[in-house]
Amino acid sequence: MQIRLFNTLTRKVEDFNPIIPNHVGFYSCGPTVYHYAHLGNLRTMVHNDLLKRMFLANGFDVNHVMNITDVGHLTDEDNDSGEDKMEKGAARDHKSVWDIAQFYLDEFLRDADDLNIMRPTNMPRATEYIKEQIELIQELEKRGYTYEIPGDGIYYDTSKFADYGALTGGSLSGQKAGARVEYNDAKRNPTDFALWKYSPKDVKRQMEWDSPWGIGFPGWHTECCVMSMKLLGEHFDIHTGGEDLSRVHHTNEIAQSEPIVGKPWVHYWVHFSFLVDKSGDKMSKSKGEFLGMNAVRARNIEPIVYRYWIVLGHYQSQLAFSFEALESAEAGYKNIVRKVADLMNDNTQTATNQEQYDQWHNKILAPVSDNLKTAESLVVFQDLLKDKTVDNVTKLALVKFVDELLGLQFIEHAQKLHDLETQEAPESVKQMAQQRLEAKKSRDFATADALRNQIDESGWTVMDTVDGFKLVKKQ
Ligand code: AMP
Ligand code: ZN
Repeated sequence: MQIRLFNTLTRKVEDFNPIIPNHVGFYSCGPTVYHYAHLGNLRTMVHNDLLKRMFLANGFDVNHVMNITDVGHLTDEDNDSGEDKMEKGAARDHKSVWDIAQFYLDEFLRDADDLNIMRPTNMPRATEYIKEQIELIQELEKRGYTYEIPGDGIYYDTSKFADYGALTGGSLSGQKAGARVEYNDAKRNPTDFALWKYSPKDVKRQMEWDSPWGIGFPGWHTECCVMSMKLLGEHFDIHTGGEDLSRVHHTNEIAQSEPIVGKPWVHYWVHFSFLVDKSGDKMSKSKGEFLGMNAVRARNIEPIVYRYWIVLGHYQSQLAFSFEALESAEAGYKNIVRKVADLMNDNTQTATNQEQYDQWHNKILAPVSDNLKTAESLVVFQDLLKDKTVDNVTKLALVKFVDELLGLQFIEHAQKLHDLETQEAPESVKQMAQQRLEAKKSRDFATADALRNQIDESGWTVMDTVDGFKLVKKQ
C-alpha cells in the first residue's frame, strides 16, 4: 500500500519512498531524563509508535532509534545559556545526575510500557557518544564552520551554511529579524549555537569531559546527529520529534550534518503537534499542575485510555487535554471492549472468511497509511463491529490486526472482561445468593439486603434473573 506522510521540509503530504526497499530507518528525539515525562511528551512517543506500527503493518523492516538526552540540554535553549536541565534536576532531587538519569529513564519506560509503546530498536544515551560528538565538532572545525567565544565555548557560525533555516522555510536574515532581542551578543549571528560548552571556571560539573578545546560538555543539538548517523547510516529515511523542535533543534542538526554528508541528510521530517492545556498553552514539565501518567493512574483511568484518546486525534492538530475529555474517551474505549468481549462469547468454530478479512484489513490500513489518519481507521473498525454479514471469528481476527496496528489492546482487555464474566463463583458465595433468593421469596427483605452486601464485600455482584440469580465477578 502506498504510504504518504507530511514532510515538514517540503510542507506537503508526499509519497514515501524508502532509501532501501521495504526498509525504514527512523530517528526520534527522545526524552530529557531530568523529570517524569508529561502527557505531552508521551503523546509524541505514542505518535512515534503509531508511525512504526504503520510501517510494520505494511510489511516493512523497521530500524527505530530514539535517544535519551542525559546531558547538555540547557534551560534557555535559544541562547545556549541557563542551567543544564540534568544538573538542575539532580539538585532538586538531591541525587547525582547519573542517578536521576536512570530513575527517570526507568519511569519513562514504565509509562511507555503502560501505553503499549514498542521499545525502539536502539535507545542510545548522549553520554555514551561523547567521543563521536567531539569528532563531529572537529570535522566542522576543519571545514571552517566554527569559532570560539572565549570563556564560553565553541560555536557554529550559521552564516556559513547557505541553507540554514530551510526546514522551517526561513532564511538566516528572516530569523534575525524575528529573533528575540535578548541573545548572547558575543555570538556572530543570533542563530549561532553552541557545539561545545566549557565548564564554568571554578565549578566542578557532575558531567564533564576533556576535549581538544577544554573541559566541558557538548551542545544539545550535536548528540542527535552522531547517534542517528552511527545507528542508521549517514543518510536515513525519517526524523521525528515534537513540533517545537523544527525551528531550532532540527534546524541545527541539519546545519551540522549536511556540510559533512551532503544533501539531503534526512529525507522526511515528521513533526507531531503539541498537547496543550485548556487555555491552549503548551504543556511543559515546569508549569502548574504536573500532568504525567501518574495523574492519570491516580484517577483510576487505565493508561491505555490515554493512548486511545490520542488515536482519536490527528498528529498534525494540537489536542487540548482535560480529564473530562479523557473520561469520555474511557466510555468509548470500554464500549468497544464490551463489543469485543461479546464476540468471544460465540462458541462457533468456523474458519476465518479470508475474502472478507482481506477487504476489511485493507479498509482499516488505508487511512493510517495515508498520513496516519488513525481516527478514520477507528471509524472503519467500528463499522466492522456493527456489520452483521461478517462472522465473529473473522471479526476477532481483524480485532487482532487492529491491535497490532494501533496498539490499543482491545483483545487483552476484552479477554479480561470475558474471563471475569464467565468465572464460576465460589461455593460460599453461591450459598449466600441461594439464601438471599429464599429470603426474598419469604419477603424477608432485611435479610436479603444484608446478604447482598455480604456478597458484594466478597467481590461479587448478584443479579436477579427469571429463573433465579446470576453472579458476576466485580471488576
Ligand atoms: P523533552 O523531554 O523535553 O526533551 O521532550 C521529548 C519530546 O517531547 C520531544 O520530541 C518534544 O518535542 C516533545 N514535547 C515536548 N512538549 C510537548 C507537548 N506539550 N506536546 C507534545 N510533545 C511535546
Ligand atoms: Zn534531537
